[in-house]
Amino acid sequence: MTLPAALTNTLDLIGNTPLVLLKGPSEAAGCEIWGKCEFANPGASVKDRAALGIVRDAEARGELKPGGCVVEGTAGNTGIGIALVANALGYRTIIVMPDNQSREKMATLRALGAELVLVPPTKYSDCNHFVHTSRRLAEETEGAIWANQFDNTANRKAHLETTAPELWDQMGGRIDGFTCAAGTGGTIAGVGMGLKERDENVTIALTDPHGAALYNFYANGELKAEGSSVAEGIGQGRITANLEGAPIDTQFRISDEEGLEWVARLLREEGLCLGLSSGINVAGAVALGRHLGKGSRVATILCDTGFRYLSTLYNREWLEAKGLPAFDWLERD
Ligand code: PMP
Repeated sequence: MTLPAALTNTLDLIGNTPLVLLKGPSEAAGCEIWGKCEFANPGASVKDRAALGIVRDAEARGELKPGGCVVEGTAGNTGIGIALVANALGYRTIIVMPDNQSREKMATLRALGAELVLVPPTKYSDCNHFVHTSRRLAEETEGAIWANQFDNTANRKAHLETTAPELWDQMGGRIDGFTCAAGTGGTIAGVGMGLKERDENVTIALTDPHGAALYNFYANGELKAEGSSVAEGIGQGRITANLEGAPIDTQFRISDEEGLEWVARLLREEGLCLGLSSGINVAGAVALGRHLGKGSRVATILCDTGFRYLSTLYNREWLEAKGLPAFDWLERD
């Protein structure tokens, strides 16, 4: 076994995450299902990669100068990634977040020293939506840049240049399918493009939660959402700049119940504590594995740590209030 190399820069801790074979999902699908452990990043999510890519790109373009400020609207994980990267590089961070995201994310952002602005959850078309609020704040703040993760393609470039080649190498160049859900779309587009560059026969599948519009878009060209989901960080209603031209071959729609079942099984049977977008991704990977057939090799993203959701996914009262089945081992408060 080779140990990871000794590093001289903390930012180099971002990426180069492990890939692990998921036993239960592999058995369920009759093929190999592999999970890329993005919870192993310093900020405990896949978004550290986009955060670093966006900040480095703004520096290279001369927009972000020493002592500057990074402003972003985020469901939380991108903010955590940006706050860590900004701390390491001497920038200030302002994060705008809808107030229905988990308490742990808010507490984490405050603990990291980010200035947190909470706004009510609204539709994207509302001018007070967290994305628009963050753009306005960036315009009003001296020396600030707007990270703009949804439409800044430095986001997907980070996945094209890091996540995709890592996956390719870790799977020894033998990969039949890749799937994940989209928030900004940076992961699915960047990894999809990077894998197709290496082998155009790799099937790229979008896994969409309920309440998102992309399943219908890729199935029949109509941006139409049905149902709803409590999953944080995923579920998109428009084609972001990051999603434009994403090489999506097929699509699956996964319910919160299916995602939660995999969150529970991966925790109890394999010792992995994950968030709901990871469970939804794994359910999508099982669907893709069944679609591709026996013996195929499929990879997906384990997006973030479950420790970020102790007050929600791992809380019986919260789940029951949302009408979702609580894990049977969870006690009442
Ligand atoms: N899962 C979680 C928990 C996230 O925070 C995000 C990012 N919003 C995603 C998945 C989706 O990643 P992307 O933005 O690259 O589509």
